[in-house]
Amino acid sequence: MPRDRSSSPLPYGRQWLDEEDVQSVLEILRGDWITQGPAIDLFENNLCRAVGARFAVAFSSGTAALHGAVYAAGVGPGAEVVTSPLSFVAGANAVLYQGGRPVFADVSADTGNLDPEAARRALSPRTRALLPVDYAGHPADLEALREIARERGILIIEDAAHSLGARLGGRPVGALADLTTFSFHPVKTITTGEGGAVTTDDEALAHRLRLFRTHGITREAGEFLHGDIERGPWYYEMIELGYNYRITDLQCALGLSQLRKLDAFVARRRAIVDRYREAFNKSDALTVPASRPGAEPAWHIFPLRLRLDRLSSSRGAIFKALRERGLGVQVHYIPIPLHPYYRKHFGHAPGEFPRAEAYYAAEISLPLFPRMNDTDVEDVIAIVGEVVEEARA
Ligand SMILES: *Cc1c(COP(=O)(O)O)cnc(C)c1O
Repeated sequence: MPRDRSSSPLPYGRQWLDEEDVQSVLEILRGDWITQGPAIDLFENNLCRAVGARFAVAFSSGTAALHGAVYAAGVGPGAEVVTSPLSFVAGANAVLYQGGRPVFADVSADTGNLDPEAARRALSPRTRALLPVDYAGHPADLEALREIARERGILIIEDAAHSLGARLGGRPVGALADLTTFSFHPVKTITTGEGGAVTTDDEALAHRLRLFRTHGITREAGEFLHGDIERGPWYYEMIELGYNYRITDLQCALGLSQLRKLDAFVARRRAIVDRYREAFNKSDALTVPASRPGAEPAWHIFPLRLRLDRLSSSRGAIFKALRERGLGVQVHYIPIPLHPYYRKHFGHAPGEFPRAEAYYAAEISLPLFPRMNDTDVEDVIAIVGEVVEEARA
């Protein structure tokens, strides 16, 4: 009897909330602040501790955090940011929000992360920052990228939406780049509902992030530009163009409670990935995601790749068969330059980023979230095994 989960389908990712999470949010609802209260500072401080960074600035979403990081890095009209095509659109879009231009460079075939050599070839005198993405939770090649950034005097913004809890060379993600951005969307490692954050060791960058998060408004007398006008306690100045990208106390209370479970969540993700890797490694029709020496990925997704030369069915047909059997598989990602908006405004076309396009064409993300039990994991393995066998030439 073929295994089937269609009566209790498994999504590709989902949050894990427990009673402690519920209670910490209720506590805030019964308190004095629901928006700009003490839970925000506490959450930021604990996030700093978790990732080994000096400063953390929480935002209303991971996308807002990326926008803040791009702003803080000084990206404006005419500036270029070299980034990965194999990602969610939010990072490249953040560059556009600031009037900059995302310049895509191809990925490494094994990790799907920005290839430092391709990034180097994409540099121009207008390059202001590198924006690597820790695809699937595997840290980008930060060592090589830092060397490029140092040579050029440019900043690195690491999109770590997938990699909270990961390490590279023993150092946590969050302390590897000039600016590191996180997302706390429910499918990510920990959740605040919507939410995000930027970490940095640079006090000036942290200050710019805070300014940007609240309309570019300052209440610090030392920053006022009109020092000579009447100044009461009501007084503030808007000195930069910012946004309302604030996170709330409600969200941060949830984040504080979730952060306490970070290590356990990541450990469970790694255990599931170890089991998947062991099971699928044996198949000559499948490629499991690489883990490079020195990297300790956090595994936000499990990007399985099909060896389509050994299969008679298409990726689409296999994807559909997995969905029909109750696996909420996904595909990560349609290369950003191939979206109609990027084709139309930047003239991108298929064939420019062959490794990202090949990765995309073969990829299926399997269910992976810490609440999966061992039966769930074995069901995924059995269903994928059966569907792939049926798809063989
Ligand atoms: C989730 C995600 C984002 C955006 O985060 P939101 O919190 O959904 O705004 C950005 N980049 C990557 C790679 C992501 O996976």
